Amino acid sequence: MSTLEIRDLQVQVDTEQGAKQILRGVDLTVRSGETHAIMGPNGSGKSTLAYSIAGHPKYTITGGTVTLDGEDLLAMSVDERARAGLFLAMQYPVEVPGVTVSNFLRTAKTAIDGEAPALRHWVKDVRGAMEQLRMDTAFADRNVNEGFSGGEKKRHEILQLELLKPKIAVLDETDSGLDVDALKVVSEGVNRARSGTDVGVLLITHYTRILRYIRPDFVHVFVDGRIVAEGGSELADTLEAEGYDKFTPAKA
Ligand code: ADP
Ligand code: MG
Ligand code: MG
Repeated sequence: MSTLEIRDLQVQVDTEQGAKQILRGVDLTVRSGETHAIMGPNGSGKSTLAYSIAGHPKYTITGGTVTLDGEDLLAMSVDERARAGLFLAMQYPVEVPGVTVSNFLRTAKTAIDGEAPALRHWVKDVRGAMEQLRMDTAFADRNVNEGFSGGEKKRHEILQLELLKPKIAVLDETDSGLDVDALKVVSEGVNRARSGTDVGVLLITHYTRILRYIRPDFVHVFVDGRIVAEGGSELADTLEAEGYDKFTPAKA
């Protein structure tokens, strides 16, 4: 049983025009086995929340706390966060020249578990997960993110999620740029991870469509750097029908 606890989180981003306050007191608790959707309009700070949890250097924490099972995540290096059981889908967005998907996954698994996975099982696990994500076996020999299409990047994220078995996973815009078929494959992967392990999921999205395939237990509406409304999955249906208008300040 794990708990990610975000308390009164306040974050500034460094821009060329100086520091800009983006998160204005975010409170959120994600426990093992729960799926929380964060939904909000573009520019509301959703990715800033994800990057802040990830420890991206551009985002300065100006207040509040983030803990995983009581441990201060904000004091940890990015690697330590991963070893503590946190998975961030945008954690390795960059190309890694000369490192194949296969080597990358094995290195990550070894770092997180503290020991190398037994090769026979591991090879089988990787093949099985790739098959279920409808990935060609040749994909394992490609360099990480080098020339990956949007869909391949997302599949690679979900492949990591399935193999690394984190305690808490933060998925930012996992649906963006996917056609319906790819969206289904990716969603099935998330759902397999949800049912196969006790992972807690923080699913960040602008659009409701992924929530047809991954039903959240809780929905949080995110506007202007804070949560302004909360509910169950029915709230996603309301947002799909009515949009964000009633949650955003009236425009003059
Ligand atoms: P969302 O993911 O909800 O679309 P973001 O967190 O990406 O929102 O952005 C929130 C606000 O912070 C926006 O106004 C955006 O322009 C600004 N912002 C975020 N990251 C940066 C950055 N690295 N440099 C400059 N501005 C940023
Ligand atoms: Mg955005
Ligand atoms: Mg975003």
